[in-house]
Amino acid sequence: MNFIDLQTQYKLIESEINSGIKKILDSGTYIMGSEVAQLEKLLAQYSGVKHCLTCSSGTDALLIPLMAWGITSGDAVFSSPFTFIATSEVVRILGATPVFVDIEPDTFNISPGKLREKIIEVKKEGKLNPKAIIPVDLFGLTADYNEIEKIAKEFGLLVLEDAAQSFGADYKGKKSCSFGDAAATSFYPAKPLGCYGDGGAVFTNNDELFDIMQSIRVHGQGHDKYNNVRVGINGRLDTIQAAVLLAKMKLFDNEIVLRNKAANKYNLQLGEYLTVPQIPNSCQSVWAQYSVLADDEQQRANVQKYLADNKIPTAIYYPKPLHLQEAFKDLNYSTGDFPVSENLASRIFSLPMHPYLKDEEIELICSKIIEYFTQ
Ligand SMILES: *Cc1c(COP(=O)(O)O)cnc(C)c1O
Repeated sequence: MNFIDLQTQYKLIESEINSGIKKILDSGTYIMGSEVAQLEKLLAQYSGVKHCLTCSSGTDALLIPLMAWGITSGDAVFSSPFTFIATSEVVRILGATPVFVDIEPDTFNISPGKLREKIIEVKKEGKLNPKAIIPVDLFGLTADYNEIEKIAKEFGLLVLEDAAQSFGADYKGKKSCSFGDAAATSFYPAKPLGCYGDGGAVFTNNDELFDIMQSIRVHGQGHDKYNNVRVGINGRLDTIQAAVLLAKMKLFDNEIVLRNKAANKYNLQLGEYLTVPQIPNSCQSVWAQYSVLADDEQQRANVQKYLADNKIPTAIYYPKPLHLQEAFKDLNYSTGDFPVSENLASRIFSLPMHPYLKDEEIELICSKIIEYFTQ
């Protein structure tokens, strides 16, 4: 059994992918071919946002808007400690300071109440300039943007949605990637919409921001190639990856339905034994991960071992919150600073999740978990 199955999906679109790639190989436009613009138009429409700028990874999709905003040393950027390192790594790359805020125990996303308290605390301290918030849409569920956008407005902060795991998700009638001042997603192969290499995209409704980000994506170029008006990066998406994503978009809405069906089946059978994910009203997750909670670390280890012995793969996202990572030790956080994140890190684990999970596979996984708890 696979934790994620990308081969079944490939079989469904094999001829389209192969002919799309062949066309690019024949044409020689490996960089910025017409498929890139075509994809950007499609993704912007899909998310209900004016502009989409594809780029080389989800990490660069986070970095580019922060560079465009001039985030730098002395600036505070508020974010969740319960995420992949990239979310705050980009803040550090620019010399700014990630300020962590604990998460909600039921959604695993940043707590708006604690965010507000933390912003007030940082302002009162007066050492850092509060500039931006990076909420993370963990495991495919959007953060609580109604509350977050209110807080951002109150304190004059920018919002960058880390939608690396949530492209396609719904929040109160709007699509993921449409929140805040800009949003970043990732097309890493294992994400809900993945390509066959690295890729990402930034979304915004702001024309001026879009212009600056376009320039940053290509070495800060001005109106012609060898006129550089700012410092940028080499952040383009390959034409071949754009062709892959165009083919995969045809399957994508149905895949979201299939992921939700799988999650509902898990929820119904496992809710009695493990804490299963709760999706707030008027939200739809894209289930980048299906993650459950054991009672404690020992029980998690036992269940994972029982499943591994039965050839069922599991994974832990994330075993160590960012505030305890060695890379961020100069930020001087310590154990106990974010009790919800730390507690979840010791209890959480993820079960196989992809659109092509068979009913028999879900039944097997659930029956083995039930067997563990009832034997
Ligand atoms: C995957 C991921 C990223 C980074 O995306 P890459 O395409 O791997 O650079 C950023 N944030 C979160 C929450 C992610 O899951």
